[in-house]
Parts: sequence; structure tokens; C-alpha cells
Amino acid sequence: MESAFYPDLSVRLFREAMSTPIYRGVHLAAPLEQYMQVWMLGTGSPSLSVARHGISTLVKANGRWLLFDTGRATLQRMYECGIPVPEVTDIFYTHLHSDHVCGLPDLWMTGWFVLHRRRPLRVFGPQGTARAVDGLRELHHFDISVRSKYETAEPAGRAIDVHEFTGGIVFDEDGVKVTAFAVDHGPDVRPAFGFRIDCNGRSIVLSGDTTLCDGVLEQAKGCDLLVHEIAGASSAQLAANEITRRIISIHTDPQQMNEICRRTRPRLTLLNHISVWRVTQYDILAKVRHGYDGEVELAHDRMEVLVGAEIRIFPPGPPVAGEDLIVSDTHRSTD
Ligand SMILES: [Zn+2]
Repeated sequence: MESAFYPDLSVRLFREAMSTPIYRGVHLAAPLEQYMQVWMLGTGSPSLSVARHGISTLVKANGRWLLFDTGRATLQRMYECGIPVPEVTDIFYTHLHSDHVCGLPDLWMTGWFVLHRRRPLRVFGPQGTARAVDGLRELHHFDISVRSKYETAEPAGRAIDVHEFTGGIVFDEDGVKVTAFAVDHGPDVRPAFGFRIDCNGRSIVLSGDTTLCDGVLEQAKGCDLLVHEIAGASSAQLAANEITRRIISIHTDPQQMNEICRRTRPRLTLLNHISVWRVTQYDILAKVRHGYDGEVELAHDRMEVLVGAEIRIFPPGPPVAGEDLIVSDTHRSTD
């Protein structure tokens, strides 16, 4: 029954507010399932920062989990975010630099014998990925033979199926499409790729490691979310240090990033893989934003983003007490 004490409009707005879904304390414009969910698991460079661990980005779209790169502490960050690790079995690699790969052994083995993954991992990567995975099996051949004897370790969960690609559509299942496109990470790092994820008319573009290149400019044009790497140094550092100049030349500096934003105009741009020499991340952010009226933010480890009719950013909160969420009550005496 309508209340006689409130105007009709107020009643309608109140009812609408009460019926909208709530996620992490925020009213959403649509049910959560209609968004792509993105977790910035690791946003750092190869340096040893604990605040910014190794590069890794997790996407959930139409119920499918897609993990892009597995830098240092990828598994730890997933655990802290309360991600159901055994369900994350599709992994995509932009390139095979160690800071993008080194979290895989932990995710593979611990996800199997501690978290009880029951399905094989599927690893999608450029040429060389199969050899890398063969080496991983060799690295852990002893432990695989030992732990396979225990009933908690499902044989299927330790398998890795490798799919090497040369570009184009590398995944197309349940309305989720992943396209790999070539980027420019310097002459010594070929092939190197970025990824575009399309689902329900929304798009996310991950640059991978690259300097300004046509691939990103084409794929990111008008996308919903662009996650792009960034590297910056002071003028004095650049003038004095040949190594810094060489590293920056195969990454994207703030001026280039500003140009990418202007030419592609994503609804939201997040900067990750942040590398700095004698400048701060905020110096870099200011340069990227200079004269550009779109939204650009620094990514942070464990930041979550919803991409749909609206885009919502959830800053990283305290780590979830993941143990209750994702570890079954079977014994863990084999740790
Ligand atoms: Zn790299």
C-alpha cells in the first residue's frame, strides 16, 4: 500500500534502492553476474616490493575465471582476496619474462595438494610455453611422485594442458572471448602479447609489457577498461643511466601513456606494472592525466573493479581470512 506521507516519487526511489543488488556494501545498478569482475592481484615490477607483488590480473566473466600472468605471490593474493583457487584453471601468458611467470609453480603445486584442485590447469601462452611447462614438471618431479600417494591429491588436478598461440582468438567459451594481439616489448622479447577480453558487449584490454604500439591503440579504442603498464624516470636519471634508458625504451613512459589515453579513450584506465626511477608513482600519474579529461587511476594489489553498465572501483581492503573460504576440512598433514 502506498504511504500517504510520502510523495509517489520518493516511494518509487526508495523501493528501487531497496531492490538493487548490494555488493561489498555498495548498491549496484545491475546484478553482479552482469558485470565482469577484475582483481588486480599484483601490480608491481620485478622489484621486491611487498606492497606491489608480481604482475597478475584475474577476471571473472559469465562465471568463467581467467587468470592473466602469474607473477610473484599470485597465489597469496588470490588467497587474500578470497578467490576459490581450485576453480581458477585457465591461465594466459602475455610473454615469458620471469616476473610474469614465477608464481606458477606455487599456484600449480599448492593449488593441487593443499587446496585440492581436481581439474587440470589449461595454460595459454606464446611459443616457448610448452617447454617452460615441461621444465616445471621436471622441477617438481620428486614432489609429484611423493604427494601423488596421498588420497587428498587428485591426479587430474596436477595435470597441465598447454595451448601455444601465435595471436588472434585464443579462448571462446560461454560467451567469453579472449583475443591475443602483438605488442612491442623490444626486439629481444618476441613474441609478446596483450589481451582483449570481450563479454556481453563489454571489453577489457590488458597491455602486457610494451612500449607505445599499434596493437594497443587498435584494441583499446573505446574499450571499457584498459589496464596498461607504465614506467617513468627523472630527467637526471635518464641522462645519467644507460640501463634505465634501455629498460624504459621497451616499456611505456608517461608521455606515451598520455597519448594512448587520448587516442583510445577507455572508460577507465588503470596503470600497473609500475616501474619508477627517482620519481614517484604520483608524479607519473599526474603526467599521464595532464590535459586528458578521462579517468586514469593507479592500480593497487587486491583492488577490485566491476565493469558493466557502470564501472565500480573497490580499493584494496584488509585481506580476507581466506582459510575459511577456500580450504576444505580434509587433513593437511602432507604440507
Ligand atoms: Zn616483460
